[in-house]
Amino acid sequence: MKSAVIGFPRVGKLRELKFASEKYFRGEITKEELDETAESLRKEHWQLQKSNGIHYIPSNDFSFYDGMLDMAVLLNAVPEEYRKLGLDEQDTYFAMARGYQGEKGDVKAFTMKKWFNTNYHYMVPELNDGIQLKLFGSKPFDEYEEAKALGIETKPVIIGAFTFLKLAKYNGSRTAADFVEQVVKAYEDILYKLNELGTKWVQIDEPALVMDLSEEDIKLFVTLYEAILRSKNNVKVLIQTYFGDVRDCYRQILSLEFDGIGLDFLEGKKTASLLKENGFPDNKILFAGVINGKNIWKCDYKKTLDLLLEIRKQAEHVVISTSCSLLHVPYTLENETKLEADVKTYFAFAKEKLRELQELSIMTESGDFEAFAEYDNNRQIFESERSYKDKEVQANVMALSEGDFRREMNRKEREELQKKEFALPLLPTTTIGSFPQTQKVKKNRSSYRKGKIDKETYDRKVFAFIEECIRKQEELGLDVLVHGEYERNDMVEFFGENLAGFIFTEKAWVQSYGTRCVKPPIIFGDIKRIRPITVHYSVYAQGLTKRPVKGMLTGPVTILNWSFPREDISLQEMVYQIGIAIRDEVCDLEKAGIRIIQIDEAALKEKLPIRKNDWYREYLDWAIPAFRLCHSRVKPETQIHTHMCYSEFEEIVTDIDNMDADVISFEASRSRLDIINALKKSNFETEVGPGVYDIHSPRIPTVDEITQTLEKMLEKIDKNKLWVNPDCGLKTRGIPETKASLKNLVKAAEAVRSQL
Ligand code: GLN
Ligand code: ZN
Repeated sequence: MKSAVIGFPRVGKLRELKFASEKYFRGEITKEELDETAESLRKEHWQLQKSNGIHYIPSNDFSFYDGMLDMAVLLNAVPEEYRKLGLDEQDTYFAMARGYQGEKGDVKAFTMKKWFNTNYHYMVPELNDGIQLKLFGSKPFDEYEEAKALGIETKPVIIGAFTFLKLAKYNGSRTAADFVEQVVKAYEDILYKLNELGTKWVQIDEPALVMDLSEEDIKLFVTLYEAILRSKNNVKVLIQTYFGDVRDCYRQILSLEFDGIGLDFLEGKKTASLLKENGFPDNKILFAGVINGKNIWKCDYKKTLDLLLEIRKQAEHVVISTSCSLLHVPYTLENETKLEADVKTYFAFAKEKLRELQELSIMTESGDFEAFAEYDNNRQIFESERSYKDKEVQANVMALSEGDFRREMNRKEREELQKKEFALPLLPTTTIGSFPQTQKVKKNRSSYRKGKIDKETYDRKVFAFIEECIRKQEELGLDVLVHGEYERNDMVEFFGENLAGFIFTEKAWVQSYGTRCVKPPIIFGDIKRIRPITVHYSVYAQGLTKRPVKGMLTGPVTILNWSFPREDISLQEMVYQIGIAIRDEVCDLEKAGIRIIQIDEAALKEKLPIRKNDWYREYLDWAIPAFRLCHSRVKPETQIHTHMCYSEFEEIVTDIDNMDADVISFEASRSRLDIINALKKSNFETEVGPGVYDIHSPRIPTVDEITQTLEKMLEKIDKNKLWVNPDCGLKTRGIPETKASLKNLVKAAEAVRSQL
């Protein structure tokens, strides 16, 4: 069997693209220099795949920011406000990605959303009434030719018309149906052009097909491809799906003129049975996603080869592929100098997965797996016991009972008590936790990490940052303060380092959005808290001021969702283990006199299953209790906050309310306040702080803007329940814009408050 890759990480093994882009944004390098970095990365990635014998290598999986944004630009979906800036092509693109504030104007960034059930974020295309979709750019063609010039035939990857239309936002009166004709023509033109270039295969990504589809959706999909595929000429078209199975449209996919069909056999629970029940045509190639593009564990060869044999019974032509783009795993294990060798043997990152594809490809060609040393080695890894179990932890989870998930007093009564306890003004102002991580802050951490300074010196500096931060917030007039989170670079890693069972990497970065990368820890064994984690920082901060300072923790669901999970126990078991550890920390904070504790569940929505049917059974039924587990033991007057990013939780507002927090803050400015209507409708009980400005862009919101936003919110939210805060933490921002923005935030809150 031949091998294929759906997409490869693009930021580079040492995040070269990130650093070059950021230099470009700061005006430190030219566009040409940025292009050079990009080109050399593409080259490296293609050659790497080629040297690992990959038969179907992707191109145009590279992006300066995001593939969906690339697609929008390719289809000419650049809204007028960005064109009007009069910037060149590249800077117009970055204006859409990041917003622009300068001589040429002031525009906000595109909305950003989570890419299905991953921690990757895409830019939401905006289809305004005035937009004329047509093939405009040349990126896929340029990159295809670039690879070809290196002697590498690639399959250009583009987002499919169905997914594009499904994920786009319609600002005017036109809907997806109104764009069908234009979009078909544009994709036809793409195929013509590829045909002209002699491209052999194109990969059209249609992950939206794994969602629950309505009759109308299926009709739209069929209409689009009946038309588009008429223009393929000599280009072979692979329709690539991932993140689930295509149970709602499998038969339609088969009946269309695709040459290759890419299916996910790992997350697609029904993929194998779809195949069994409906077969697979002999004149098409099945790209079987069996190498996990989302997790870092080595592939179990025996299991995978058995699966491939099963697949071969249904399909004549099979290519071994990744389950999704490798974008969601780190680049390579090779730069991990601190992991012990025997730990490393369990892992495969993107580069190592190429090797797995190659080995599987060779073994399937031969048929006699057992003759291969690689097979033998792999068997040994999976058959031997690794030491990672903790009996006590397992017993604690087993012993959990209903009372561990419930606070003593109900929320309404707590609210009254807390209003008296804290005596805050109406519309209290606060922030989400982190303040800018300046060079000084980062340097302190890196000096400590490198062993140049001891823990005491390190903490002394952290305390100094905290003090400065508290004074700044008092000056700004914020009501509920934070300590600034200077002791952590990452909200999961910091906790994981104080929990047994986690493993950390040095360079295992994964792109989260644009130039932002995260370095998820690996859950390797049973989890428990080793020592108090945040207590002395929080206590120090609270000692500096009369105003309440929030204790700041990361919740169990987020820790789980932002880590690479084990594959040998259930998610529920892992999350309860973490929940107990966080509960220990919550109790210690309370004991130390911290009266408000925020437990961030930034990533709660992230792993909500794509199909509604699975929401409760597979996720919410343990995710919501896991949060409650953390705070069930605190006193009624202790106020529990939580925070969620990129929430879009309209459909699960009741479940969010059931987390039984006292206050929740969440992202609201980029998703343009949609959720507030849902809160109103559900009689949401938790007090809320919908973010009043977008912190993902350096743009400073004006007092007027925030005032208007608050007034709008007050139309739907009880004034006794509304909090005023930014969208998310401020750690990625600079100090000047942070100060200016928060000053405006406080002014706006005061202005609105005085009218109430
Ligand atoms: N408390 C964290 C911070 O302020 C929350 C970050 C997040 O939601 N991603 O940075
Ligand atoms: Zn957030």
